[in-house]
Amino acid sequence: MNYIFPKLKKDFKNDDSISNKIYQLIDKLTEETILERDEFLYILDNITKKEMPYLNDSAYNVKYKFYQNRVYLRGLIEISNYCKMGCKYCGINYKVKTIERYRLSIDEILECCKLGYDLGYRTFVIQSGEDSFYTDNLLVDMLKRIKKEMPDVRVTLSLGERSKESYQALFDAGTDRYLLRHETASRRLYEYLHASFMSFDNRRECLSNLKEIGFQVGAGFMVGSPTQTNEDLVEDLFYLKELGPHMVGIGPYLCHEDTELKGNESGTLPESLIMVALVRLLLPKVLLPATTALGSLHTIGREKALKIGANVMMPNISPTENRALYEIYQNKICTTDTSNQCRNCIEGRIVGVGHEIDLGVGDHIDLERVTEND
Ligand code: SAH
Repeated sequence: MNYIFPKLKKDFKNDDSISNKIYQLIDKLTEETILERDEFLYILDNITKKEMPYLNDSAYNVKYKFYQNRVYLRGLIEISNYCKMGCKYCGINYKVKTIERYRLSIDEILECCKLGYDLGYRTFVIQSGEDSFYTDNLLVDMLKRIKKEMPDVRVTLSLGERSKESYQALFDAGTDRYLLRHETASRRLYEYLHASFMSFDNRRECLSNLKEIGFQVGAGFMVGSPTQTNEDLVEDLFYLKELGPHMVGIGPYLCHEDTELKGNESGTLPESLIMVALVRLLLPKVLLPATTALGSLHTIGREKALKIGANVMMPNISPTENRALYEIYQNKICTTDTSNQCRNCIEGRIVGVGHEIDLGVGDHIDLERVTEND
């Protein structure tokens, strides 16, 4: 059970005074890029489908101001589903016995990158369960090889929590960006969703270390996870404002029936889209992906996200035979496609909603560098 957005779930229509207050708050957020806690809460507690077009247009206009209708593409490689962590919602956590585990060798990862490069991608996102197989030495070797063979690309890692020394080594070897969703900024909810050996404080420390070292950092959270409240979502907004990440990944919680959270309701499309739009207004220049989870929840979930402020898509370039095994949630899209098919599908979707693909490296607008001089 989740308790968020009470008026979205029913066929509720606000009277004009409530709608007008919400419009005013959206205008204030657009202008000042922050609201008071009780103002955010007013929006989340009261918003209905009636006010969504206003929110969507405001968020789209802010995105357009900085990035126009360009969508950056990142080739996503899921390198291993071995995981020692205990995120109770995640279908590859260490307790799940029903999946076959796999990991890619450094040579196989390089092959995926080269294929991605030929498809035009200039950022690779290398993601994994928390797999101790990938030591710093191994990853440093991988990074050096990628950067040597493809000097004009950016590499994003998403390998979970590591020590500051490890992050530093990965940065020194050429990693440009690091994605580590904070998952939730509420200590209560974090502790409910994770095994007791995991630490809310450590996750935050990892994020501040990543920032301090100089990565372009991505945080993010799930919407609609069991027991989540609107107050918890407001905490997410405040934490993001304080951290100031370059990227924010937002997706619905999708229930996986082989996890201990089985039987719970998943998050919904409208509530996830509202959070995407609010984050666009909160952090106007942020890189905001239309996530695979949104596409898995609804056939045109990602396209809807592009229309309300998202500006990044992450087509999969993992070997087709491994894709279904990286099952962090069920009914994940693109698990039987080849990388080539994903490339064509993504382009069609982006163009279909009046956007255009941008095959540049797609750095955050405040960090744009001339790649030739790298
Ligand atoms: N080990 C890495 C990558 C984790 S998978 C890390 O810890 O950062 C990437 C993201 O998928 C997670 O951060 C989480 O937000 C999301 N995720 C995992 N299980 C999910 C589920 N059941 N529904 C929706 N999102 C999920």
